[in-house]
Amino acid sequence: MRVCVIGAGPSGMACAITLAKRNIDVTLFEHGDRVGRKILSTGNGRCNLSNSDHDLSHYHGNREFIEAVFERKPFGSTVSFLTKLGIFTKNKGGYLYPYSEQASAVSDVLRHAMKRYGVKVVTGINVSDIRKTEPEKGNDREGFIIISDQGRECFDRVVIAAGSKAFPKSGSDGSGYELSRLLGHSITEPLPALCALRSDEKFCRMLAGVRSEAVVSLEIDTGIVKSDTGEVQFTDYGLSGIPVFQLSYLAVRALYRKKKVRIHLDLMPLMDKDTLSGFLFDRKSSDETKSCGEFLTGILNKNLSLLIIKLAGLSQDGLLSETEDSEIEMISGYIKDLTFNISGYNSFDKAQICQGGVCTGEISADMQSKLVKGLYFAGEIIDVNGDCGGYNLTWAFNTGMIAGEMAKEQY
Ligand SMILES: Cc1cc2nc3c(=O)[nH]c(=O)nc-3n(C[C@H](O)[C@H](O)[C@H](O)COP(=O)(O)OP(=O)(O)OC[C@H]3O[C@@H](n4cnc5c(N)ncnc54)[C@H](O)[C@@H]3O)c2cc1C
Repeated sequence: MRVCVIGAGPSGMACAITLAKRNIDVTLFEHGDRVGRKILSTGNGRCNLSNSDHDLSHYHGNREFIEAVFERKPFGSTVSFLTKLGIFTKNKGGYLYPYSEQASAVSDVLRHAMKRYGVKVVTGINVSDIRKTEPEKGNDREGFIIISDQGRECFDRVVIAAGSKAFPKSGSDGSGYELSRLLGHSITEPLPALCALRSDEKFCRMLAGVRSEAVVSLEIDTGIVKSDTGEVQFTDYGLSGIPVFQLSYLAVRALYRKKKVRIHLDLMPLMDKDTLSGFLFDRKSSDETKSCGEFLTGILNKNLSLLIIKLAGLSQDGLLSETEDSEIEMISGYIKDLTFNISGYNSFDKAQICQGGVCTGEISADMQSKLVKGLYFAGEIIDVNGDCGGYNLTWAFNTGMIAGEMAKEQY
Protein backbone atom coordinates (compact mmCIF):
# COMPACT_ATOMS: atom_id res chain seq x y z
CA MET A 1 0.00 0.00 0.00
CA ARG A 2 1.23 3.53 -0.80
CA VAL A 3 0.04 6.52 1.23
CA CYS A 4 0.46 10.17 0.32
CA VAL A 5 0.39 12.78 3.09
CA ILE A 6 -0.02 16.38 1.93
CA GLY A 7 1.58 18.93 4.27
CA ALA A 8 4.61 18.59 6.55
CA GLY A 9 3.23 20.36 9.61
CA PRO A 10 2.84 18.59 12.96
CA SER A 11 -0.28 16.71 11.82
CA GLY A 12 1.25 15.50 8.54
CA MET A 13 4.53 14.49 10.16
CA ALA A 14 2.78 12.66 13.06
CA CYS A 15 0.70 10.83 10.46
CA ALA A 16 3.69 9.93 8.27
CA ILE A 17 5.74 8.66 11.25
CA THR A 18 2.80 6.58 12.50
CA LEU A 19 2.44 4.96 9.06
CA ALA A 20 6.15 4.44 8.43
CA LYS A 21 6.59 2.80 11.85
CA ARG A 22 4.06 0.24 10.65
CA ASN A 23 6.15 -0.40 7.54
CA ILE A 24 3.81 1.44 5.19
CA ASP A 25 5.28 3.09 2.10
CA VAL A 26 4.55 6.77 2.86
CA THR A 27 5.38 9.87 0.85
CA LEU A 28 5.07 13.32 2.43
CA PHE A 29 4.59 16.25 0.05
CA GLU A 30 5.41 19.75 1.32
CA HIS A 31 5.33 22.84 -0.84
CA GLY A 32 7.72 24.79 1.39
CA ASP A 33 11.45 24.32 1.24
CA ARG A 34 11.58 22.60 4.63
CA VAL A 35 9.34 20.58 6.93
CA GLY A 36 7.67 21.93 10.09
CA ARG A 37 8.20 25.62 9.40
CA LYS A 38 5.22 26.78 11.51
CA ILE A 39 6.39 24.77 14.52
CA LEU A 40 9.44 27.06 14.76
CA SER A 41 7.18 30.07 15.39
CA THR A 42 5.01 28.40 18.02
CA GLY A 43 5.00 29.49 21.65
CA ASN A 44 7.26 32.45 20.82
CA GLY A 45 9.91 30.05 19.56
CA ARG A 46 9.50 27.72 22.54
CA CYS A 47 6.63 25.51 21.25
CA ASN A 48 3.81 25.15 23.72
CA LEU A 49 3.06 21.60 22.59
CA SER A 50 0.29 20.59 25.01
CA ASN A 51 -1.31 21.35 28.35
CA SER A 52 -1.82 19.57 31.69
CA ASP A 53 -5.47 20.67 31.68
CA HIS A 54 -7.18 18.11 29.46
CA ASP A 55 -10.65 19.69 29.60
CA LEU A 56 -12.20 19.43 26.15
CA SER A 57 -14.03 22.73 26.62
CA HIS A 58 -10.79 24.26 25.32
CA TYR A 59 -11.90 23.11 21.86
CA HIS A 60 -14.60 24.82 19.80
CA GLY A 61 -16.64 23.19 17.08
CA ASN A 62 -18.80 20.07 16.78
CA ARG A 63 -18.73 18.77 20.40
CA GLU A 64 -19.74 15.22 19.57
CA PHE A 65 -16.97 15.00 16.98
CA ILE A 66 -14.35 16.51 19.31
CA GLU A 67 -15.26 14.07 22.10
CA ALA A 68 -15.19 11.09 19.73
CA VAL A 69 -11.73 12.08 18.47
CA PHE A 70 -10.31 12.30 22.00
CA GLU A 71 -12.01 9.04 22.95
CA ARG A 72 -10.08 7.42 20.12
CA LYS A 73 -6.80 9.16 20.97
CA PRO A 74 -6.63 10.50 24.56
CA PHE A 75 -5.39 14.04 25.09
CA GLY A 76 -2.06 12.89 26.62
CA SER A 77 -1.12 10.97 23.45
CA THR A 78 0.72 13.99 22.03
CA VAL A 79 3.13 14.10 24.98
CA SER A 80 3.61 10.28 24.85
CA PHE A 81 4.30 10.45 21.12
CA LEU A 82 6.84 13.26 21.44
CA THR A 83 8.43 11.74 24.56
CA LYS A 84 9.10 8.54 22.61
CA LEU A 85 10.82 10.66 19.96
CA GLY A 86 13.05 12.29 22.60
CA ILE A 87 11.21 15.36 23.91
CA PHE A 88 11.29 15.78 27.70
CA THR A 89 8.62 18.28 28.72
CA LYS A 90 8.54 21.20 31.12
CA ASN A 91 5.30 22.41 32.77
CA LYS A 92 4.91 26.18 33.12
CA GLY A 93 1.58 26.97 34.75
CA GLY A 94 -0.05 24.08 32.88
CA TYR A 95 1.50 24.97 29.51
CA LEU A 96 3.87 22.20 28.34
CA TYR A 97 7.10 22.95 26.45
CA PRO A 98 10.16 20.96 25.45
CA TYR A 99 12.59 21.17 28.40
CA SER A 100 15.09 23.01 26.17
CA GLU A 101 12.34 25.59 25.42
CA GLN A 102 13.37 25.43 21.76
CA ALA A 103 10.65 24.86 19.18
CA SER A 104 13.36 23.62 16.84
CA ALA A 105 13.76 20.60 19.14
CA VAL A 106 10.23 19.49 18.23
CA SER A 107 10.71 19.89 14.49
CA ASP A 108 14.15 18.22 14.77
CA VAL A 109 12.86 15.07 16.49
CA LEU A 110 10.06 14.79 13.92
CA ARG A 111 12.47 15.25 11.02
CA HIS A 112 14.93 12.71 12.43
CA ALA A 113 12.16 10.18 13.11
CA MET A 114 10.88 10.51 9.54
CA LYS A 115 14.37 9.78 8.27
CA ARG A 116 14.84 6.83 10.64
CA TYR A 117 11.52 5.20 9.75
CA GLY A 118 11.92 5.78 6.02
CA VAL A 119 9.29 8.44 5.21
CA LYS A 120 9.90 9.72 1.68
CA VAL A 121 9.90 13.48 2.17
CA VAL A 122 9.52 15.63 -0.92
CA THR A 123 9.80 19.40 -0.33
CA GLY A 124 9.25 22.20 -2.85
CA ILE A 125 6.30 20.37 -4.45
CA ASN A 126 2.87 21.94 -4.68
CA VAL A 127 -0.09 19.57 -4.82
CA SER A 128 -2.77 21.25 -6.93
CA ASP A 129 -5.30 18.48 -7.59
CA ILE A 130 -6.36 15.08 -6.34
CA ARG A 131 -8.41 12.71 -8.51
CA LYS A 132 -10.12 9.55 -7.42
CA THR A 133 -9.39 6.58 -9.67
CA GLU A 134 -12.06 4.04 -10.54
CA PRO A 135 -11.63 0.49 -9.23
CA GLU A 136 -9.95 -1.75 -11.80
CA LYS A 137 -11.62 -4.91 -13.12
CA GLY A 138 -11.05 -7.80 -10.72
CA ASN A 139 -9.72 -5.38 -8.09
CA ASP A 140 -12.22 -3.34 -6.11
CA ARG A 141 -9.52 -1.18 -4.58
CA GLU A 142 -9.85 2.46 -5.45
CA GLY A 143 -6.99 4.91 -5.43
CA PHE A 144 -5.94 8.48 -6.04
CA ILE A 145 -3.87 10.40 -8.54
CA ILE A 146 -1.97 13.27 -7.00
CA ILE A 147 -1.33 16.09 -9.43
CA SER A 148 1.45 18.52 -8.60
CA ASP A 149 3.79 20.97 -10.30
CA GLN A 150 6.11 17.97 -10.66
CA GLY A 151 3.72 15.57 -12.40
CA ARG A 152 1.26 12.82 -11.45
CA GLU A 153 1.62 9.96 -9.01
CA CYS A 154 -0.77 7.20 -7.86
CA PHE A 155 -1.47 6.33 -4.24
CA ASP A 156 -3.88 4.02 -2.41
CA ARG A 157 -4.62 6.42 0.41
CA VAL A 158 -4.38 10.22 0.76
CA VAL A 159 -4.19 12.27 3.95
CA ILE A 160 -4.79 16.00 3.60
CA ALA A 161 -2.85 17.69 6.41
CA ALA A 162 -2.29 21.01 4.65
CA GLY A 163 -3.24 23.31 7.55
CA SER A 164 -5.32 26.47 7.26
CA LYS A 165 -4.89 30.02 5.97
CA ALA A 166 -3.35 31.37 9.15
CA PHE A 167 0.23 32.68 9.10
CA PRO A 168 0.71 32.00 5.37
CA LYS A 169 4.41 32.83 5.48
CA SER A 170 4.86 29.42 7.11
CA GLY A 171 3.37 27.71 4.03
CA SER A 172 -0.28 27.30 5.00
CA ASP A 173 -1.95 29.20 2.17
CA GLY A 174 -5.40 27.61 2.29
CA SER A 175 -4.77 25.37 -0.72
CA GLY A 176 -5.80 22.36 1.37
CA TYR A 177 -9.35 23.73 1.43
CA GLU A 178 -9.38 23.79 -2.38
CA LEU A 179 -8.08 20.21 -2.58
CA SER A 180 -10.83 19.12 -0.17
CA ARG A 181 -13.47 20.98 -2.20
CA LEU A 182 -12.29 19.24 -5.38
CA LEU A 183 -13.11 15.94 -3.67
CA GLY A 184 -16.62 17.12 -2.76
CA HIS A 185 -16.08 18.38 0.80
CA SER A 186 -17.79 21.48 2.19
CA ILE A 187 -15.72 24.15 3.88
CA THR A 188 -17.03 26.28 6.73
CA GLU A 189 -15.81 29.82 5.98
CA PRO A 190 -12.28 30.05 7.43
CA LEU A 191 -11.82 33.09 9.68
CA PRO A 192 -8.88 34.18 11.81
CA ALA A 193 -8.76 33.04 15.45
CA LEU A 194 -6.24 33.55 18.26
CA CYS A 195 -5.68 37.04 16.94
CA ALA A 196 -5.58 40.63 18.18
CA LEU A 197 -8.74 42.75 18.06
CA ARG A 198 -8.87 46.22 16.55
CA SER A 199 -10.66 49.15 18.13
CA ASP A 200 -11.63 52.55 16.84
CA GLU A 201 -11.34 54.18 20.30
CA LYS A 202 -9.14 57.26 19.94
CA PHE A 203 -7.40 56.54 23.25
CA CYS A 204 -5.75 53.32 21.93
CA ARG A 205 -2.71 55.27 20.78
CA MET A 206 -2.19 56.60 24.31
CA LEU A 207 -2.01 53.02 25.63
CA ALA A 208 0.29 51.51 22.99
CA GLY A 209 2.91 49.32 24.64
CA VAL A 210 1.13 49.11 28.03
CA ARG A 211 0.56 45.68 29.61
CA SER A 212 -1.87 45.11 32.45
CA GLU A 213 -3.56 42.21 34.23
CA ALA A 214 -7.32 42.32 33.66
CA VAL A 215 -10.50 40.35 33.42
CA VAL A 216 -11.46 40.67 29.76
CA SER A 217 -15.15 40.29 28.94
CA LEU A 218 -16.57 40.02 25.45
CA GLU A 219 -19.94 41.61 24.76
CA ILE A 220 -21.78 40.67 21.59
CA ASP A 221 -24.80 42.81 20.79
CA THR A 222 -26.11 43.34 24.32
CA GLY A 223 -24.77 40.51 26.43
CA ILE A 224 -21.46 39.31 27.88
CA VAL A 225 -20.73 35.95 26.24
CA LYS A 226 -17.34 35.00 27.64
CA SER A 227 -14.59 36.28 29.95
CA ASP A 228 -10.94 35.44 30.43
CA THR A 229 -8.25 36.67 32.80
CA GLY A 230 -4.61 37.45 32.10
CA GLU A 231 -2.18 40.01 30.79
CA VAL A 232 -3.68 42.35 28.20
CA GLN A 233 -1.29 43.97 25.75
CA PHE A 234 -2.48 47.36 24.53
CA THR A 235 -1.45 48.33 21.00
CA ASP A 236 -1.89 51.49 18.95
CA TYR A 237 -4.74 49.75 17.07
CA GLY A 238 -6.45 47.81 19.84
CA LEU A 239 -6.01 44.87 22.20
CA SER A 240 -3.81 41.81 22.21
CA GLY A 241 -2.46 39.25 24.68
CA ILE A 242 -3.58 35.77 25.70
CA PRO A 243 -6.97 36.66 27.31
CA VAL A 244 -7.90 38.64 24.17
CA PHE A 245 -6.77 35.76 21.93
CA GLN A 246 -8.91 33.33 23.92
CA LEU A 247 -12.06 35.36 23.15
CA SER A 248 -11.07 36.32 19.61
CA TYR A 249 -12.74 33.42 17.77
CA LEU A 250 -16.14 34.56 19.10
CA ALA A 251 -15.44 38.25 18.45
CA VAL A 252 -14.25 37.61 14.88
CA ARG A 253 -17.27 35.44 14.07
CA ALA A 254 -19.62 38.07 15.51
CA LEU A 255 -17.97 40.89 13.52
CA TYR A 256 -18.13 38.73 10.39
CA ARG A 257 -21.88 38.45 11.02
CA LYS A 258 -22.08 42.24 11.41
CA LYS A 259 -22.85 42.12 15.14
CA LYS A 260 -21.86 44.79 17.63
CA VAL A 261 -18.78 43.76 19.58
CA ARG A 262 -17.28 45.38 22.67
CA ILE A 263 -14.55 44.40 25.12
CA HIS A 264 -14.82 45.36 28.78
CA LEU A 265 -11.69 45.40 30.94
CA ASP A 266 -11.80 45.07 34.70
CA LEU A 267 -8.40 46.43 35.69
CA MET A 268 -8.85 45.73 39.41
CA PRO A 269 -10.53 42.32 39.69
CA LEU A 270 -9.37 41.91 43.30
CA MET A 271 -12.03 44.37 44.50
CA ASP A 272 -15.69 44.70 43.65
CA LYS A 273 -16.94 48.14 42.60
CA ASP A 274 -18.08 49.28 46.09
CA THR A 275 -14.87 48.11 47.78
CA LEU A 276 -12.80 49.90 45.13
CA SER A 277 -14.80 53.11 45.54
CA GLY A 278 -14.33 52.97 49.34
CA PHE A 279 -10.60 52.33 48.83
CA LEU A 280 -10.34 55.35 46.50
CA PHE A 281 -12.25 57.65 48.87
CA ASP A 282 -9.86 56.61 51.72
CA ARG A 283 -6.90 57.15 49.40
CA LYS A 284 -8.14 60.62 48.50
CA SER A 285 -8.71 61.70 52.11
CA SER A 286 -5.30 60.37 53.21
CA ASP A 287 -3.60 63.11 51.14
CA GLU A 288 -5.78 65.65 49.36
CA THR A 289 -2.78 67.79 48.42
CA LYS A 290 -1.89 65.35 45.62
CA SER A 291 -2.67 66.15 42.00
CA CYS A 292 -5.22 64.06 40.08
CA GLY A 293 -2.36 62.85 37.87
CA GLU A 294 -0.74 61.25 40.94
CA PHE A 295 -3.92 59.71 42.33
CA LEU A 296 -3.61 56.27 40.70
CA THR A 297 0.21 56.09 40.76
CA GLY A 298 1.19 52.77 42.30
CA ILE A 299 -2.10 51.12 41.34
CA LEU A 300 -2.20 51.20 37.55
CA ASN A 301 0.28 51.72 34.74
CA LYS A 302 0.95 55.45 34.30
CA ASN A 303 -0.64 55.76 30.86
CA LEU A 304 -3.71 53.83 31.98
CA SER A 305 -3.97 56.05 35.09
CA LEU A 306 -3.76 59.25 33.04
CA LEU A 307 -6.34 57.95 30.57
CA ILE A 308 -8.80 57.14 33.34
CA ILE A 309 -8.30 60.56 34.96
CA LYS A 310 -9.00 62.12 31.55
CA LEU A 311 -12.09 59.97 30.92
CA ALA A 312 -13.44 61.03 34.33
CA GLY A 313 -13.24 64.62 33.08
CA LEU A 314 -10.36 65.63 35.36
CA SER A 315 -7.13 67.40 34.56
CA GLN A 316 -3.80 65.81 35.57
CA ASP A 317 -2.77 69.03 37.28
CA GLY A 318 -6.04 69.52 39.16
CA LEU A 319 -6.01 69.04 42.94
CA LEU A 320 -7.61 65.99 44.51
CA SER A 321 -9.13 68.27 47.17
CA GLU A 322 -11.22 69.89 44.44
CA THR A 323 -12.68 66.63 43.08
CA GLU A 324 -16.32 65.69 43.65
CA ASP A 325 -17.37 62.33 45.09
CA SER A 326 -19.11 61.63 41.76
CA GLU A 327 -15.75 62.04 39.95
CA ILE A 328 -14.06 59.53 42.30
CA GLU A 329 -16.98 57.18 41.58
CA MET A 330 -16.35 57.69 37.86
CA ILE A 331 -12.66 56.80 38.27
CA SER A 332 -13.70 53.67 40.13
CA GLY A 333 -16.20 52.90 37.33
CA TYR A 334 -13.56 53.18 34.59
CA ILE A 335 -11.10 50.98 36.51
CA LYS A 336 -13.80 48.31 36.82
CA ASP A 337 -15.02 48.74 33.25
CA LEU A 338 -12.83 50.27 30.58
CA THR A 339 -14.84 49.64 27.41
CA PHE A 340 -13.46 49.27 23.88
CA ASN A 341 -15.67 49.26 20.83
CA ILE A 342 -14.24 46.53 18.59
CA SER A 343 -14.24 47.41 14.92
CA GLY A 344 -12.12 44.64 13.39
CA TYR A 345 -9.47 41.98 13.85
CA ASN A 346 -6.02 41.15 12.60
CA SER A 347 -5.91 39.30 9.31
CA PHE A 348 -4.82 35.73 8.53
CA ASP A 349 -1.26 37.05 8.15
CA LYS A 350 -1.00 37.62 11.89
CA ALA A 351 -3.54 35.12 13.26
CA GLN A 352 -2.17 32.04 15.00
CA ILE A 353 -4.92 29.75 13.74
CA CYS A 354 -8.14 29.62 11.71
CA GLN A 355 -11.63 28.73 12.82
CA GLY A 356 -13.69 27.04 10.11
CA GLY A 357 -12.40 24.48 7.64
CA VAL A 358 -13.49 21.06 6.41
CA CYS A 359 -16.96 20.31 7.83
CA THR A 360 -16.81 17.81 10.66
CA GLY A 361 -20.16 16.35 9.59
CA GLU A 362 -18.35 14.90 6.57
CA ILE A 363 -15.48 13.29 8.56
CA SER A 364 -15.63 10.28 10.91
CA ALA A 365 -13.78 10.35 14.24
CA ASP A 366 -11.28 7.97 12.59
CA MET A 367 -10.39 10.94 10.33
CA GLN A 368 -11.69 9.24 7.21
CA SER A 369 -13.84 11.19 4.81
CA LYS A 370 -17.48 10.10 4.86
CA LEU A 371 -17.66 11.07 1.18
CA VAL A 372 -14.51 9.54 -0.31
CA LYS A 373 -13.23 6.18 0.88
CA GLY A 374 -9.48 6.20 1.46
CA LEU A 375 -9.28 9.95 1.99
CA TYR A 376 -8.29 11.21 5.45
CA PHE A 377 -7.87 14.60 7.10
CA ALA A 378 -5.65 15.72 9.96
CA GLY A 379 -4.88 18.92 11.86
CA GLU A 380 -6.04 22.48 11.59
CA ILE A 381 -7.70 22.01 8.20
CA ILE A 382 -10.61 20.45 10.11
CA ASP A 383 -13.31 22.79 11.43
CA VAL A 384 -12.20 22.61 15.08
CA ASN A 385 -10.26 25.38 16.83
CA GLY A 386 -8.54 25.23 20.18
CA ASP A 387 -7.63 27.75 22.84
CA CYS A 388 -4.17 29.14 23.33
CA GLY A 389 -2.14 26.84 25.60
CA GLY A 390 -0.96 23.94 23.43
CA TYR A 391 -4.44 22.83 22.39
CA ASN A 392 -3.94 23.36 18.65
CA LEU A 393 -0.69 21.41 18.45
CA THR A 394 -2.28 18.64 20.51
CA TRP A 395 -5.15 18.56 18.03
CA ALA A 396 -2.70 18.42 15.12
CA PHE A 397 -0.56 15.62 16.61
CA ASN A 398 -3.50 13.52 17.86
CA THR A 399 -5.50 13.71 14.63
CA GLY A 400 -2.31 13.03 12.61
CA MET A 401 -1.69 9.87 14.64
CA ILE A 402 -5.30 8.72 14.22
CA ALA A 403 -5.21 9.30 10.45
CA GLY A 404 -1.95 7.32 10.23
CA GLU A 405 -3.26 4.39 12.27
CA MET A 406 -6.57 4.24 10.42
CA ALA A 407 -5.15 4.67 6.91
CA LYS A 408 -3.26 1.42 7.55
CA GLU A 409 -6.05 -0.41 9.41
CA GLN A 410 -8.71 0.34 6.85
CA TYR A 411 -6.79 -0.86 3.85
C1 LIG B 1 2.82 32.33 15.46
C2 LIG B 1 2.10 31.06 15.87
C3 LIG B 1 2.29 30.55 17.14
C4 LIG B 1 1.61 29.38 17.52
N1 LIG B 1 1.86 28.87 18.76
C5 LIG B 1 1.25 27.71 19.14
C6 LIG B 1 1.56 27.11 20.38
O1 LIG B 1 2.47 27.53 21.10
N2 LIG B 1 0.85 25.99 20.73
C7 LIG B 1 -0.12 25.45 19.92
O2 LIG B 1 -0.73 24.46 20.30
N3 LIG B 1 -0.37 25.98 18.71
C8 LIG B 1 0.29 27.07 18.29
N4 LIG B 1 0.05 27.60 17.04
C9 LIG B 1 -0.90 26.88 16.15
C10 LIG B 1 -0.23 25.63 15.55
O3 LIG B 1 1.04 25.97 15.05
C11 LIG B 1 -1.09 25.06 14.41
O4 LIG B 1 -2.37 24.79 14.89
C12 LIG B 1 -0.47 23.79 13.85
O5 LIG B 1 0.80 24.04 13.29
C13 LIG B 1 -1.37 23.15 12.78
O6 LIG B 1 -0.73 22.02 12.29
P1 LIG B 1 -1.10 21.41 10.86
O7 LIG B 1 -0.16 20.28 10.64
O8 LIG B 1 -2.53 21.13 10.79
O9 LIG B 1 -0.82 22.59 9.82
P2 LIG B 1 0.50 23.43 9.48
O10 LIG B 1 1.42 23.45 10.64
O11 LIG B 1 0.01 24.72 8.95
O12 LIG B 1 1.18 22.59 8.32
C14 LIG B 1 0.59 22.46 7.05
C15 LIG B 1 1.69 22.24 6.02
O13 LIG B 1 1.10 21.92 4.76
C16 LIG B 1 1.83 22.57 3.72
N5 LIG B 1 0.93 22.71 2.56
C17 LIG B 1 -0.19 23.43 2.49
N6 LIG B 1 -0.76 23.30 1.27
C18 LIG B 1 0.02 22.46 0.55
C19 LIG B 1 -0.04 21.95 -0.78
N7 LIG B 1 -1.04 22.24 -1.59
N8 LIG B 1 0.96 21.12 -1.21
C20 LIG B 1 2.00 20.79 -0.39
N9 LIG B 1 2.10 21.26 0.90
C21 LIG B 1 1.12 22.07 1.36
C22 LIG B 1 2.23 23.90 4.36
O14 LIG B 1 3.36 24.47 3.72
C23 LIG B 1 2.52 23.50 5.81
O15 LIG B 1 3.89 23.17 6.02
C24 LIG B 1 0.72 28.73 16.62
C25 LIG B 1 0.57 29.24 15.34
C26 LIG B 1 1.25 30.39 14.96
C27 LIG B 1 1.08 30.91 13.55
